[in-house]
Amino acid sequence: MKIINPATEALIREVKEDSDLSVRKKFERAQAAQCQWATVPISQRVEAMARFERLLDEETDRLAEVLTSEVGKPIRESHNELAGARHRIRYFVEHSEAVLEAGTVHEETGMVEYLEYEPLGVVGNISAWNYPYLVGVNVFVPALIGGNAVLYKPSEYATLTGLELGRLLHRAGIPKDIFQTLVGGPAIGKKLLRLPLDGYFFTGSYQTGRSIAEAVRSRLVPLGMELGGKDPLYVADDVLDISQVAKAVVEGCFYNNGQSCCAVERVYVQQKIYRQFLEAFLGEVKKLRVGDPLDPTVTQGPITRPRHRLLLEVQVRDAVAKGAKLLEGGHRWGKRGFFFEPTVLTRVNHKMRVMKEETFGPVIGIQSVRDDAQAVRLMNDTEYGLTAAVYSGSESRARAILKQIDAGTGYWNCCDRVSPNLPWSGRKHSGIGATLSTVGIQTFVRPKAYHLRGDHPLPSC
Ligand code: NAD
Repeated sequence: MKIINPATEALIREVKEDSDLSVRKKFERAQAAQCQWATVPISQRVEAMARFERLLDEETDRLAEVLTSEVGKPIRESHNELAGARHRIRYFVEHSEAVLEAGTVHEETGMVEYLEYEPLGVVGNISAWNYPYLVGVNVFVPALIGGNAVLYKPSEYATLTGLELGRLLHRAGIPKDIFQTLVGGPAIGKKLLRLPLDGYFFTGSYQTGRSIAEAVRSRLVPLGMELGGKDPLYVADDVLDISQVAKAVVEGCFYNNGQSCCAVERVYVQQKIYRQFLEAFLGEVKKLRVGDPLDPTVTQGPITRPRHRLLLEVQVRDAVAKGAKLLEGGHRWGKRGFFFEPTVLTRVNHKMRVMKEETFGPVIGIQSVRDDAQAVRLMNDTEYGLTAAVYSGSESRARAILKQIDAGTGYWNCCDRVSPNLPWSGRKHSGIGATLSTVGIQTFVRPKAYHLRGDHPLPSC
């Protein structure tokens, strides 16, 4: 498989893809090793993750360069991603033992009710390229701590990072057969789905997620899906500082070139402040710098997947044909590399694809709205339900709006943000299940309930 640098179109390296046989052998090795791993005390599994976190820190400069070279994100953002992943690992290191602790939950004469958690077994993790560290860590860190073996298939656009993750986990003390990387694209993902795994955890698009759900649903094992979004953001007329809000919203739209599951994909602005907001917003967009992602002053690298620029062009053309005004960008950029200009469209409406389909790129539509009720109606007019944001001077007003939005996450005066302390979950076509937080630790284990009559000692773990 050829690994191409999206900023230069140069070949970085060729790597050997997995085959039918190698995938099957990896599964058999994982299955044979998992029972032993499950008997390792959780404190030792947690300690291995703490070592993994330190290794990410030690090698952070090189890992950031590898990430930037294969996905094209600006080097500062690659560093941010690694720091964010370490923060999440520290959360799991600090909280997993308490969350998974076995114990008596109820006692009465002659009867003890006791709860413990067991691993699922061998789980598959098919992952995305846009934040390979973050979305990977959400799954394989709690899965490994929970006593599972993991077959991890990184995206074909983040293969080198996937291989680095495997190498560092092994160095940290995770046995080689307990975490194995599968190299390849959709065909290797499909092979993984044919294996009788004990859980399937997927991060990627709704289209792929749906086909995965259809392929494995009859197995009746846990299925986790973190899928796409069309996340709305509403700027109410009582915001205190329009220029600060515009700056934050531009960051939410264009960070990682808009290639974030929770990127702001639609902006609604209360009509009283629409002109003022738009002016401030365009001022901020003009500060963005497209170019070589290794240059620390560059904010916009290339689009990671070359063909995705076609979708961006189609959405822009469709919007303009239906009456939108193109205020900024709208075209490919540069002679080499898969760049696309930061793009702003106004006079948009929900008949346009750019306001309905996931864009996953540096293209944003801004629509003026009459009042909160219209904003709520438009924000909910989507097949997705990942996040929604409200900027307002009033917490109660913002919370009243967010309460009515069918999404897994609500933001007041912030956006495009994920925290390990809170569950990360999508509704509708944005996913099923949850990762992160105490909920995301329990995602990778099964509860086992004991009803113990008599004066028995408690079962040993
Ligand atoms: P994708 O669906 O194209 O691919 C994701 C993974 O699935 C890759 O590893 C790919 O090789 C594999 N795959 C593709 N087809 C397959 C098939 N038929 N069977 C098995 N495996 C298959 O998605 P992507 O381009 O890697 O990621 C972008 C998408 O991911 C966006 O929609 C984004 O919103 C979403 N995403 C969501 C979250 C979240 O937390 N909700 C996080 C990151 C990305």
